[in-house]
Amino acid sequence: MIPGPTPVPEKVLQALSKHPIGHRSKEFQELVESTTKNLQWLHQTQNDVLTITGSGTAAMEAGIINTLSKGDKVICGENGKFGERWVKVAKEFGLEIIKIDSAWGTPLNPEEFKKVLEEDKQKEIKAVILTHSETSTGVINDLETISSYIREHKKALSIVDCVTSLGACNVPVDEWQLDVVASGSQKGYMIPPGLSFIAMSQKAWDAAEKSNLPKFYLNLKSYRKSLLNNSNPYTPAVNLVFALDESLKMMREEGLEKIFLRHNKHKLAMSNAVKALNLKLFAEEKYLSPSITAIKTGEMDAEEFRKQIKNNFDILLAGGQDHLKGKIFRVGHLGYVNDRDIITVISAISKTLFDLGKITNKEVGEALLVASKYLKQD
Ligand SMILES: *Cc1c(COP(=O)(O)O)cnc(C)c1O
Repeated sequence: MIPGPTPVPEKVLQALSKHPIGHRSKEFQELVESTTKNLQWLHQTQNDVLTITGSGTAAMEAGIINTLSKGDKVICGENGKFGERWVKVAKEFGLEIIKIDSAWGTPLNPEEFKKVLEEDKQKEIKAVILTHSETSTGVINDLETISSYIREHKKALSIVDCVTSLGACNVPVDEWQLDVVASGSQKGYMIPPGLSFIAMSQKAWDAAEKSNLPKFYLNLKSYRKSLLNNSNPYTPAVNLVFALDESLKMMREEGLEKIFLRHNKHKLAMSNAVKALNLKLFAEEKYLSPSITAIKTGEMDAEEFRKQIKNNFDILLAGGQDHLKGKIFRVGHLGYVNDRDIITVISAISKTLFDLGKITNKEVGEALLVASKYLKQD
């Protein structure tokens, strides 16, 4: 129950075990064609969605180096570990950064973006870079509002990490006119780590014509050119593409609406059960990520708590990162997760708290009752 790598369905595992085929073969071209179509469906876009062999960070880096140039002024939103990563990448490539931050556990304030964008009369800001679902804190940022302010600016691109929001909640790329959207296979896609995805708008491609940052393997123009022929510039992780084809078919069968509802009810079951157990949510309740719940442990050592859950129930929970280590634990409910998984993890957490003398059987019962109430909603 960590936010990634997430569980992989049996069908997808079987697809992975096939013998690799030539990446220039007709069979493989057919796979590229069908996965690309289904990726566009998942992103709700008519734009290109490119598949890169590399983890999610490769797509993040590709987004920056393909659309921007040295010294470009950008806004970076930072309210957690992954927002921090954006800042690091932008720094590494010599961009001039205006940081808009917010305490970890709280959302970015869209009005701050609006203000900085409105004040930019010379239109010097080339991009607004941020994380949609901040996995390190369990916060979802209000991307819909922020992207509307970016559109009003007209010049700036939106470059967004949607790694733990795509495939979990609504991310209508075209409707929100997102320019660059990065994601990774080991999250909502239900396949192992190794592939990342990047959606590029026409505005992003126009910017790519002027971008002067160094790139070779991650030069997206090569991927776009190859895609015209349903191909890849370099040898892709062929077996992961087999897996992707299966998982996207499963997603299409379930349907976007149902996928989003499932993640939403798991979020509600988890967060309300946690409250019934007298634990505190780390993130503001209005901004809970659909894919991960971060929980404060008070005076109890979160790492020790995680260890007990692992030893007694063989369930892996995620820990806190950086200054949050030992202070919070995080429950992932992203991708191939069902109601039984949620009830099981709540039971494991309840039983452990009960054994520690933190709660009585009354709270245990309440947590399970409140969780099942939310799980019933379909
Ligand atoms: C997992 C994750 C990433 C990508 O990390 P990789 O280890 O490079 O796959 C990026 N952003 C967020 C919010 C994530 O959860």
